[in-house]
Amino acid sequence: MNQDLRQAEMLTLSEKRLLKRHSRSAMAIMAMHTLLCVVYFQFGYFAVELDQGLLMLFVVWVSLFAYQLLLATGWTLRFSEPSLSLPMVLHFMVVFMVSGYYVDEFRLSVVTLFFAGLLLASFRLSGKVMIGVAMLASVAYAMMLWLAMNDRWVELSFSVEALQWLVFSMISVSFAITGGGINRLRDALADKNHQLARAVEQVREMAIRDDLTGLFNRRHLLEVLERQRALFARKGLSFAICYVDLDHFKQINDRHGHDWGDRVLRRFSALALAGMRDGDYFGRLGGEEFLLILPQSNEQGALRVAERLRERWREESFGQEGGPNAVSLSVGVAACQEDETVDELLNRADQGLYRAKSGGRNQSRVA
Ligand code: GH3
Ligand code: MG
Ligand code: MG
Repeated sequence: MNQDLRQAEMLTLSEKRLLKRHSRSAMAIMAMHTLLCVVYFQFGYFAVELDQGLLMLFVVWVSLFAYQLLLATGWTLRFSEPSLSLPMVLHFMVVFMVSGYYVDEFRLSVVTLFFAGLLLASFRLSGKVMIGVAMLASVAYAMMLWLAMNDRWVELSFSVEALQWLVFSMISVSFAITGGGINRLRDALADKNHQLARAVEQVREMAIRDDLTGLFNRRHLLEVLERQRALFARKGLSFAICYVDLDHFKQINDRHGHDWGDRVLRRFSALALAGMRDGDYFGRLGGEEFLLILPQSNEQGALRVAERLRERWREESFGQEGGPNAVSLSVGVAACQEDETVDELLNRADQGLYRAKSGGRNQSRVA
Protein backbone atom coordinates (compact mmCIF):
# COMPACT_ATOMS: atom_id res chain seq x y z
CA MET A 1 0.00 0.00 0.00
CA ASN A 2 2.75 2.39 1.04
CA GLN A 3 4.63 1.52 -2.09
CA ASP A 4 1.56 2.24 -4.23
CA LEU A 5 1.23 5.64 -2.59
CA ARG A 6 4.88 6.37 -3.19
CA GLN A 7 4.55 5.38 -6.84
CA ALA A 8 1.47 7.56 -7.26
CA GLU A 9 3.35 10.42 -5.65
CA MET A 10 6.31 9.92 -7.98
CA LEU A 11 4.04 9.93 -11.02
CA THR A 12 2.30 13.10 -9.87
CA LEU A 13 5.64 14.71 -9.12
CA SER A 14 7.03 14.02 -12.57
CA GLU A 15 3.76 15.20 -14.16
CA LYS A 16 4.07 18.39 -12.11
CA ARG A 17 7.60 18.88 -13.41
CA LEU A 18 6.41 18.33 -16.98
CA LEU A 19 3.63 20.86 -16.47
CA LYS A 20 6.11 23.44 -15.19
CA ARG A 21 8.23 22.92 -18.28
CA HIS A 22 5.11 23.20 -20.44
CA SER A 23 4.09 26.51 -18.89
CA ARG A 24 7.66 27.82 -19.17
CA SER A 25 7.61 27.05 -22.91
CA ALA A 26 4.29 28.87 -23.24
CA MET A 27 5.79 31.89 -21.48
CA ALA A 28 8.82 31.81 -23.79
CA ILE A 29 6.67 31.77 -26.92
CA MET A 30 4.55 34.64 -25.67
CA ALA A 31 7.67 36.57 -24.61
CA MET A 32 9.07 36.29 -28.15
CA HIS A 33 5.76 37.44 -29.54
CA THR A 34 5.67 40.42 -27.18
CA LEU A 35 9.24 41.31 -28.17
CA LEU A 36 8.29 41.19 -31.84
CA CYS A 37 5.30 43.46 -31.24
CA VAL A 38 7.41 45.94 -29.28
CA VAL A 39 9.99 46.06 -32.08
CA TYR A 40 7.30 46.60 -34.71
CA PHE A 41 5.77 49.28 -32.51
CA GLN A 42 9.15 51.03 -32.19
CA PHE A 43 9.53 51.10 -35.96
CA GLY A 44 6.00 52.39 -36.39
CA TYR A 45 4.46 49.30 -37.94
CA PHE A 46 2.10 48.57 -35.08
CA ALA A 47 -1.04 50.65 -35.71
CA VAL A 48 -2.01 51.14 -32.09
CA GLU A 49 -1.77 53.89 -29.42
CA LEU A 50 0.81 53.36 -26.67
CA ASP A 51 -1.69 53.16 -23.78
CA GLN A 52 -3.90 50.81 -25.77
CA GLY A 53 -0.92 48.58 -26.57
CA LEU A 54 0.21 48.56 -22.94
CA LEU A 55 -3.28 47.59 -21.81
CA MET A 56 -3.31 44.69 -24.28
CA LEU A 57 0.09 43.52 -23.06
CA PHE A 58 -1.09 43.77 -19.47
CA VAL A 59 -4.16 41.60 -20.13
CA VAL A 60 -2.10 39.06 -22.06
CA TRP A 61 0.51 38.68 -19.36
CA VAL A 62 -1.86 38.65 -16.41
CA SER A 63 -3.76 35.77 -18.00
CA LEU A 64 -0.52 33.96 -18.81
CA PHE A 65 0.77 34.33 -15.25
CA ALA A 66 -2.56 33.00 -13.97
CA TYR A 67 -2.07 29.99 -16.26
CA GLN A 68 1.48 29.54 -14.98
CA LEU A 69 0.24 29.67 -11.38
CA LEU A 70 -2.48 27.06 -11.98
CA LEU A 71 0.04 24.65 -13.47
CA ALA A 72 2.81 25.28 -10.96
CA THR A 73 0.57 24.62 -7.95
CA GLY A 74 -0.59 21.30 -9.39
CA TRP A 75 -4.19 22.50 -9.15
CA THR A 76 -4.89 21.32 -12.70
CA LEU A 77 -3.79 17.74 -11.93
CA ARG A 78 -7.44 16.97 -11.13
CA PHE A 79 -8.31 17.38 -14.83
CA SER A 80 -7.91 14.67 -17.43
CA GLU A 81 -5.74 17.05 -19.43
CA PRO A 82 -3.85 18.95 -16.72
CA SER A 83 -1.75 21.10 -19.04
CA LEU A 84 -4.89 22.96 -20.22
CA SER A 85 -3.34 23.00 -23.66
CA LEU A 86 -6.59 23.70 -25.49
CA PRO A 87 -7.37 26.92 -23.58
CA MET A 88 -3.68 27.81 -23.87
CA VAL A 89 -3.51 27.44 -27.64
CA LEU A 90 -6.84 29.26 -28.07
CA HIS A 91 -5.46 32.08 -25.92
CA PHE A 92 -2.40 32.21 -28.18
CA MET A 93 -4.66 32.29 -31.21
CA VAL A 94 -6.69 35.24 -29.96
CA VAL A 95 -3.58 37.19 -28.91
CA PHE A 96 -1.73 36.53 -32.17
CA MET A 97 -4.75 37.36 -34.33
CA VAL A 98 -5.44 40.59 -32.46
CA SER A 99 -1.81 41.64 -32.82
CA GLY A 100 -1.84 40.52 -36.46
CA TYR A 101 -4.77 42.84 -37.03
CA TYR A 102 -2.64 45.84 -36.06
CA VAL A 103 0.47 44.96 -38.09
CA ASP A 104 -0.27 45.32 -41.75
CA GLU A 105 3.11 44.94 -43.42
CA PHE A 106 4.34 42.01 -41.32
CA ARG A 107 1.08 40.33 -40.48
CA LEU A 108 2.19 36.79 -41.20
CA SER A 109 5.44 37.22 -39.26
CA VAL A 110 3.57 38.26 -36.11
CA VAL A 111 1.22 35.31 -36.41
CA THR A 112 3.99 32.81 -37.21
CA LEU A 113 4.78 32.12 -33.55
CA PHE A 114 1.36 30.52 -33.36
CA PHE A 115 3.00 27.45 -34.94
CA ALA A 116 5.27 27.14 -31.91
CA GLY A 117 2.13 27.20 -29.75
CA LEU A 118 0.60 24.47 -31.92
CA LEU A 119 3.74 22.38 -31.56
CA LEU A 120 3.64 22.75 -27.78
CA ALA A 121 -0.03 21.80 -27.67
CA SER A 122 0.57 18.77 -29.90
CA PHE A 123 2.30 17.01 -26.98
CA ARG A 124 -1.02 17.02 -25.22
CA LEU A 125 -3.89 17.27 -27.68
CA SER A 126 -5.21 14.56 -29.95
CA GLY A 127 -4.84 14.79 -33.74
CA LYS A 128 -8.53 15.60 -34.20
CA VAL A 129 -8.47 18.46 -31.71
CA MET A 130 -5.28 19.75 -33.33
CA ILE A 131 -6.89 19.79 -36.78
CA GLY A 132 -9.90 21.57 -35.27
CA VAL A 133 -7.64 24.17 -33.71
CA ALA A 134 -5.78 24.65 -37.03
CA MET A 135 -9.06 25.14 -38.94
CA LEU A 136 -10.29 27.55 -36.30
CA ALA A 137 -7.04 29.49 -36.58
CA SER A 138 -7.47 29.65 -40.34
CA VAL A 139 -11.01 31.03 -39.91
CA ALA A 140 -9.79 33.47 -37.25
CA TYR A 141 -7.02 34.66 -39.59
CA ALA A 142 -9.58 35.19 -42.37
CA MET A 143 -11.82 37.17 -40.03
CA MET A 144 -8.92 39.24 -38.80
CA LEU A 145 -7.98 39.92 -42.41
CA TRP A 146 -11.52 40.85 -43.32
CA LEU A 147 -11.71 43.30 -40.39
CA ALA A 148 -8.33 44.80 -41.24
CA MET A 149 -9.24 45.19 -44.90
CA ASN A 150 -12.58 46.78 -44.02
CA ASP A 151 -10.88 49.23 -41.68
CA ARG A 152 -7.80 50.00 -43.78
CA TRP A 153 -8.66 48.57 -47.19
CA VAL A 154 -6.80 51.20 -49.17
CA GLU A 155 -3.45 50.16 -47.83
CA LEU A 156 -3.83 46.43 -48.34
CA SER A 157 -3.20 44.28 -51.32
CA PHE A 158 -5.84 41.58 -51.40
CA SER A 159 -3.85 39.04 -53.36
CA VAL A 160 -0.79 39.28 -51.09
CA GLU A 161 -2.94 39.02 -47.96
CA ALA A 162 -4.93 36.11 -49.33
CA LEU A 163 -1.74 34.31 -50.29
CA GLN A 164 -0.35 34.83 -46.81
CA TRP A 165 -3.59 33.53 -45.32
CA LEU A 166 -3.30 30.43 -47.49
CA VAL A 167 0.29 29.86 -46.37
CA PHE A 168 -0.72 30.29 -42.74
CA SER A 169 -3.63 27.85 -43.08
CA MET A 170 -1.54 25.21 -44.84
CA ILE A 171 1.29 25.38 -42.32
CA SER A 172 -1.24 25.25 -39.45
CA VAL A 173 -2.89 22.13 -40.81
CA SER A 174 0.51 20.51 -41.51
CA PHE A 175 1.54 21.18 -37.91
CA ALA A 176 -1.75 19.74 -36.69
CA ILE A 177 -1.29 16.55 -38.72
CA THR A 178 2.33 16.09 -37.60
CA GLY A 179 1.35 17.01 -34.04
CA GLY A 180 -1.34 14.33 -34.06
CA GLY A 181 1.46 11.82 -34.74
CA ILE A 182 3.42 13.10 -31.76
CA ASN A 183 0.38 12.70 -29.59
CA ARG A 184 -0.28 9.15 -30.81
CA LEU A 185 3.34 8.31 -30.04
CA ARG A 186 2.97 9.78 -26.58
CA ASP A 187 -0.22 7.79 -25.98
CA ALA A 188 1.42 4.58 -27.18
CA LEU A 189 4.37 5.23 -24.89
CA ALA A 190 2.09 5.91 -21.94
CA ASP A 191 0.24 2.70 -22.73
CA LYS A 192 3.46 0.70 -22.84
CA ASN A 193 4.58 2.24 -19.56
CA HIS A 194 1.29 1.24 -18.03
CA GLN A 195 1.64 -2.33 -19.29
CA LEU A 196 5.20 -2.46 -18.02
CA ALA A 197 4.17 -1.21 -14.58
CA ARG A 198 1.44 -3.86 -14.48
CA ALA A 199 3.89 -6.57 -15.54
CA VAL A 200 6.38 -5.50 -12.88
CA GLU A 201 3.60 -5.56 -10.29
CA GLN A 202 2.61 -9.04 -11.47
CA VAL A 203 6.18 -10.30 -11.25
CA ARG A 204 6.52 -8.78 -7.80
CA GLU A 205 3.31 -10.52 -6.70
CA MET A 206 4.48 -13.82 -8.19
CA ALA A 207 7.78 -13.50 -6.35
CA ILE A 208 6.12 -13.24 -2.96
CA ARG A 209 3.15 -15.58 -3.45
CA ASP A 210 2.71 -19.31 -3.15
CA ASP A 211 1.18 -20.84 -6.29
CA LEU A 212 -1.23 -23.28 -4.71
CA THR A 213 -2.76 -21.11 -1.99
CA GLY A 214 -1.99 -17.55 -3.07
CA LEU A 215 -0.57 -16.94 0.41
CA PHE A 216 2.81 -15.33 1.05
CA ASN A 217 5.58 -17.79 0.25
CA ARG A 218 8.50 -18.87 2.40
CA ARG A 219 10.89 -16.27 0.96
CA HIS A 220 8.54 -13.41 1.73
CA LEU A 221 7.76 -14.72 5.20
CA LEU A 222 11.47 -14.79 5.98
CA GLU A 223 11.78 -11.21 4.75
CA VAL A 224 8.89 -10.14 6.97
CA LEU A 225 10.50 -11.92 9.92
CA GLU A 226 13.80 -10.09 9.31
CA ARG A 227 11.92 -6.78 9.18
CA GLN A 228 10.06 -7.54 12.39
CA ARG A 229 13.29 -8.54 14.09
CA ALA A 230 14.92 -5.27 13.05
CA LEU A 231 11.93 -3.33 14.39
CA PHE A 232 12.18 -5.26 17.66
CA ALA A 233 15.90 -4.49 17.94
CA ARG A 234 15.52 -0.81 17.07
CA LYS A 235 12.21 0.17 18.62
CA GLY A 236 11.45 -2.66 21.01
CA LEU A 237 8.33 -3.67 19.07
CA SER A 238 7.82 -7.27 20.11
CA PHE A 239 6.26 -9.92 17.91
CA ALA A 240 5.36 -13.59 18.06
CA ILE A 241 4.94 -16.42 15.57
CA CYS A 242 2.76 -19.50 15.25
CA TYR A 243 4.26 -22.44 13.36
CA VAL A 244 1.25 -24.38 12.07
CA ASP A 245 1.38 -27.95 10.76
CA LEU A 246 -1.64 -29.97 9.62
CA ASP A 247 -1.82 -33.35 11.36
CA HIS A 248 -1.45 -36.65 9.52
CA PHE A 249 -1.58 -34.88 6.22
CA LYS A 250 0.16 -37.68 4.42
CA GLN A 251 -2.84 -39.90 5.20
CA ILE A 252 -5.18 -37.43 3.49
CA ASN A 253 -3.15 -37.71 0.32
CA ASP A 254 -2.96 -41.47 0.66
CA ARG A 255 -6.65 -42.03 1.35
CA HIS A 256 -8.34 -39.31 -0.69
CA GLY A 257 -5.77 -38.47 -3.33
CA HIS A 258 -3.38 -35.61 -3.90
CA ASP A 259 -6.13 -33.36 -5.30
CA TRP A 260 -8.00 -33.61 -2.06
CA GLY A 261 -4.81 -32.76 -0.22
CA ASP A 262 -4.51 -29.61 -2.33
CA ARG A 263 -8.14 -28.73 -1.69
CA VAL A 264 -7.67 -29.06 2.06
CA LEU A 265 -4.59 -26.84 1.91
CA ARG A 266 -6.51 -24.16 0.00
CA ARG A 267 -9.50 -24.37 2.33
CA PHE A 268 -7.29 -24.05 5.36
CA SER A 269 -5.54 -21.03 3.81
CA ALA A 270 -8.85 -19.27 3.18
CA LEU A 271 -10.16 -20.02 6.65
CA ALA A 272 -7.01 -18.81 8.39
CA LEU A 273 -6.85 -15.65 6.25
CA ALA A 274 -10.47 -14.79 6.94
CA GLY A 275 -9.90 -14.81 10.69
CA MET A 276 -6.77 -12.69 10.65
CA ARG A 277 -6.23 -9.32 12.27
CA ASP A 278 -5.13 -6.39 10.07
CA GLY A 279 -1.36 -6.13 10.21
CA ASP A 280 -0.73 -9.83 10.81
CA TYR A 281 1.08 -11.91 8.21
CA PHE A 282 0.15 -15.38 7.16
CA GLY A 283 1.89 -17.58 4.63
CA ARG A 284 2.86 -21.07 3.59
CA LEU A 285 6.34 -22.24 4.52
CA GLY A 286 5.94 -25.28 2.28
CA GLY A 287 4.04 -28.58 2.22
CA GLU A 288 1.38 -28.52 4.96
CA GLU A 289 3.30 -26.05 7.11
CA PHE A 290 2.22 -22.46 7.62
CA LEU A 291 3.46 -19.49 9.54
CA LEU A 292 1.52 -16.75 11.26
CA ILE A 293 3.46 -13.61 12.23
CA LEU A 294 1.82 -11.46 14.87
CA PRO A 295 3.39 -8.02 15.32
CA GLN A 296 3.09 -6.49 18.79
CA SER A 297 2.07 -9.79 20.33
CA ASN A 298 3.55 -11.82 23.17
CA GLU A 299 3.55 -15.57 23.76
CA GLN A 300 0.20 -15.58 25.56
CA GLY A 301 -1.50 -13.52 22.84
CA ALA A 302 -0.08 -15.76 20.11
CA LEU A 303 -1.19 -18.88 21.98
CA ARG A 304 -4.75 -17.54 22.13
CA VAL A 305 -4.69 -16.81 18.38
CA ALA A 306 -3.34 -20.31 17.69
CA GLU A 307 -6.02 -21.96 19.82
CA ARG A 308 -8.79 -19.98 18.14
CA LEU A 309 -7.50 -21.00 14.71
CA ARG A 310 -7.15 -24.63 15.79
CA GLU A 311 -10.75 -24.73 17.06
CA ARG A 312 -12.22 -23.04 14.01
CA TRP A 313 -10.35 -25.43 11.72
CA ARG A 314 -11.46 -28.40 13.74
CA GLU A 315 -15.08 -27.61 12.85
CA GLU A 316 -14.41 -27.85 9.12
CA SER A 317 -15.41 -31.14 7.56
CA PHE A 318 -15.07 -32.42 4.02
CA GLY A 319 -16.86 -35.72 4.62
CA GLN A 320 -20.01 -34.75 2.75
CA GLU A 321 -17.99 -33.79 -0.29
CA GLY A 322 -16.20 -37.13 -0.31
CA GLY A 323 -13.09 -35.89 1.46
CA PRO A 324 -11.69 -36.35 4.96
CA ASN A 325 -14.08 -35.81 7.89
CA ALA A 326 -11.97 -33.50 9.96
CA VAL A 327 -8.35 -32.48 9.85
CA SER A 328 -6.62 -31.27 12.96
CA LEU A 329 -3.56 -29.12 13.28
CA SER A 330 -0.74 -28.58 15.72
CA VAL A 331 0.94 -25.27 16.50
CA GLY A 332 4.26 -24.26 17.97
CA VAL A 333 4.27 -20.75 19.42
CA ALA A 334 7.25 -18.51 20.15
CA ALA A 335 7.71 -14.82 20.90
CA CYS A 336 10.88 -13.19 19.66
CA GLN A 337 13.55 -12.72 22.31
CA GLU A 338 16.30 -10.15 22.43
CA ASP A 339 19.40 -10.95 20.35
CA GLU A 340 17.66 -13.90 18.74
CA THR A 341 18.07 -14.52 15.02
CA VAL A 342 15.17 -15.43 12.75
CA ASP A 343 16.54 -18.98 12.44
CA GLU A 344 16.72 -19.35 16.21
CA LEU A 345 13.17 -18.05 16.58
CA LEU A 346 11.87 -20.46 13.93
CA ASN A 347 13.73 -23.31 15.62
CA ARG A 348 12.10 -22.54 18.94
CA ALA A 349 8.65 -22.44 17.34
CA ASP A 350 9.48 -25.76 15.69
CA GLN A 351 10.37 -27.18 19.10
CA GLY A 352 6.94 -26.04 20.34
CA LEU A 353 5.41 -27.81 17.35
CA TYR A 354 7.36 -30.95 18.16
CA ARG A 355 6.00 -30.86 21.70
CA ALA A 356 2.47 -30.42 20.33
CA LYS A 357 2.93 -33.39 17.98
CA SER A 358 4.44 -35.66 20.63
CA GLY A 359 1.76 -34.55 23.10
CA GLY A 360 -0.86 -36.16 20.84
CA ARG A 361 -1.36 -33.52 18.10
CA ASN A 362 -4.39 -31.21 17.76
CA GLN A 363 -2.94 -28.70 20.24
CA SER A 364 -0.80 -25.56 20.56
CA ARG A 365 2.39 -25.45 22.60
CA VAL A 366 4.87 -22.80 23.56
CA ALA A 367 8.52 -23.58 22.89
P1 GH3 B 1 2.33 -34.98 11.09
O1 GH3 B 1 1.02 -35.06 11.76
O2 GH3 B 1 3.42 -35.53 11.88
O3 GH3 B 1 2.62 -33.61 10.61
O4 GH3 B 1 2.20 -35.91 9.82
P2 GH3 B 1 2.06 -35.48 8.33
O5 GH3 B 1 1.62 -36.64 7.54
O6 GH3 B 1 1.21 -34.28 8.24
O7 GH3 B 1 3.53 -35.03 8.00
P3 GH3 B 1 4.55 -35.52 6.92
O8 GH3 B 1 5.67 -34.54 6.97
O9 GH3 B 1 4.90 -36.97 7.17
O10 GH3 B 1 3.83 -35.43 5.55
C1 GH3 B 1 3.49 -34.24 4.93
C2 GH3 B 1 2.81 -34.57 3.64
O11 GH3 B 1 2.36 -33.42 2.99
C3 GH3 B 1 3.72 -35.29 2.69
C4 GH3 B 1 3.46 -34.67 1.35
O12 GH3 B 1 3.08 -35.58 0.39
C5 GH3 B 1 2.29 -33.74 1.61
N1 GH3 B 1 2.39 -32.53 0.83
C6 GH3 B 1 3.39 -31.63 0.82
N2 GH3 B 1 3.10 -30.63 -0.04
C7 GH3 B 1 1.91 -30.90 -0.62
C8 GH3 B 1 1.10 -30.27 -1.58
O13 GH3 B 1 1.41 -29.19 -2.10
N3 GH3 B 1 -0.07 -30.85 -1.91
C9 GH3 B 1 -0.47 -32.03 -1.34
N4 GH3 B 1 -1.63 -32.55 -1.69
N5 GH3 B 1 0.28 -32.64 -0.44
C10 GH3 B 1 1.45 -32.12 -0.06
MG1 MG C 1 5.10 -31.14 8.27
MG1 MG D 1 1.89 -32.53 9.18
